[in-house]
Amino acid sequence: MAISEFMSSISTLKSLLAPGQKAIITTHFNPDSDAIGSSLAWFHYLVKKGLEVTVVVPSAVSQNLSWMPGAEDILNFENPMHKLQVEPLVHAADWIFCLDFSGIQRLHSLSPVIKHARAPKIVIDHHLDPEDFGTYYYHRTIAASTCELIFDLIQEWGDEDLIDVAMGQCLYSGIMTDTGSFRHPNTTAHVHEVVAQLIRLGVNTNQVHRRIFDSATIDRLKFLGHVLANRLEYLPDYHLALMWISQEDLVQFNSQAGDTEGVVNYGLQLEGAVWSILMIERPDGIKLSFRSIEPFAVNGFAARYFEGGGHKNASGGRFSGGTLKQAREKLQEVLPLYLSEIKQVKNL
Ligand code: 5GP
Ligand code: MN
Repeated sequence: MAISEFMSSISTLKSLLAPGQKAIITTHFNPDSDAIGSSLAWFHYLVKKGLEVTVVVPSAVSQNLSWMPGAEDILNFENPMHKLQVEPLVHAADWIFCLDFSGIQRLHSLSPVIKHARAPKIVIDHHLDPEDFGTYYYHRTIAASTCELIFDLIQEWGDEDLIDVAMGQCLYSGIMTDTGSFRHPNTTAHVHEVVAQLIRLGVNTNQVHRRIFDSATIDRLKFLGHVLANRLEYLPDYHLALMWISQEDLVQFNSQAGDTEGVVNYGLQLEGAVWSILMIERPDGIKLSFRSIEPFAVNGFAARYFEGGGHKNASGGRFSGGTLKQAREKLQEVLPLYLSEIKQVKNL
């Protein structure tokens, strides 16, 4: 399906949304600031349109995002009490909005529930290679964040006046984090234009930044210190920063949801590093994060060898076939295949 076909269908949706209808908004496992920010901004918008709306997430919202207006009412499918409420709500829904993901598997255990629901699914997302599980798509890979798309869609629908400060705070959160605080190559002029409008609206951007980035526990900072001191290695031949975190590390530092977020980015601070990989030992297998600098793409690498994918310079994946050591061995096997591509990166 071509992106242009996705785009045409969403314009008919506005006239179909009506007060009293029930909507579910869901987003990806390990929801980040763009996932929660876009879901909550859209939640407030639909509530203003008179719909009954519930946000459901496949795993916990991290502490540094829980200040976002509306976060207190989010249902977490991993919480047994919440889980009981989710199935009837999904069953009764008229609409299911899928935000910040376009591969159904990114919902993990929530995916069969959403997949088999009768309600039309509306995918609002900016990831590459969207799957064909939705009825309506508002999908632009050019967008730096789903929050940017939510802003654009509300504006396209002529409802910009409905965007209030609470929604603006949510939107700014996702735009800020998905652009790496406005330093990644996805930071377009349009990103700054949207942010300018949010600032004019009265969003306190400094406060949002501090709430998200300057709210670590002492355990989290010590954990970061431990990873940088003891779990970081540089492979100069491949211009690769490699980090790993074991189950034991997570337990020792009392790691909470979101504590490993952003750790992989530190690898790119090394002079000469073209990419950075973080391997985390989770109960269900090894989770990998990939980051790279232009023009080296990691999404193909993640898809080919580690059951994942994502953006060109920020991808994720997993290794279900064994231990951290075995994941490392697999990596070591395939690295030579990428040598020439890595060497093509100029201006190291
Ligand atoms: P993170 O390293 O923060 O978990 O993921 C970085 C980006 O990679 C995410 O924003 C998402 O786009 C993508 N990603 C993460 N895990 C997966 C995965 O399992 N499959 C795919 N297709 N993309 C992923
Ligand atoms: Mn995003």
